[in-house]
Amino acid sequence: MEKINDVICIESLNMDSNSYIIDNILVDTGTGLNSDYLYSKLNDLKIKKDDIEMIVNTHSHYDHTGGNYLFPNAKIAIHELDALAIEHKNDPLTASTIFHHDLKRHDVDLKLRDGDTVGSFKVIHTPGHTPGGISLWDGEILISGDTVFADGFGRLDIGGNHDDMEKSLNKLRKLDVKYLLPGHGFWVDNGKEHIEANYNLFINNF
Ligand SMILES: [Zn+2]
Ligand SMILES: [Zn+2]
Repeated sequence: MEKINDVICIESLNMDSNSYIIDNILVDTGTGLNSDYLYSKLNDLKIKKDDIEMIVNTHSHYDHTGGNYLFPNAKIAIHELDALAIEHKNDPLTASTIFHHDLKRHDVDLKLRDGDTVGSFKVIHTPGHTPGGISLWDGEILISGDTVFADGFGRLDIGGNHDDMEKSLNKLRKLDVKYLLPGHGFWVDNGKEHIEANYNLFINNF
């Protein structure tokens, strides 16, 4: 684990997404299949599962939302367009069938929109990987979900859209991102350069 400014970064295990903690907010919960791992990381931080007051899901996919049930006291926040997938059972936009597990928690408390704030972070609507994908931005750190990674961008074949992805990458490349904290893989500094490279990769290859 590493702390970057006020964000604690928890590296993913197996098919899980990365998770990030901002005060009492947990961003993405993994699949929920590795609960011992996630709880032990919180334990190392002296955080109890009931201390987590809000879960923000960067998008609806199971590898980011499957663990929501591990934090029954937490309210669930997700962009309004991806909330529908969580609320419906077996919605293809959760991709749960790919993981051969059903999503266990279906409630959504807060439907986010572009420009909303989560703690000290602003919600940026970045569709392309899913219709309701979001990134979180505080002027220095970008938590990017599966929109953009240190080395690549999110797949388009589980609810994605090419033109939306291009627009979202174009939006993000204009930000002065110092630290890029993606949904999978390594978090990096020089975030702006990584996003620019991935934007160019996208427009030249897709
Ligand atoms: Zn993912
Ligand atoms: Zn995804």
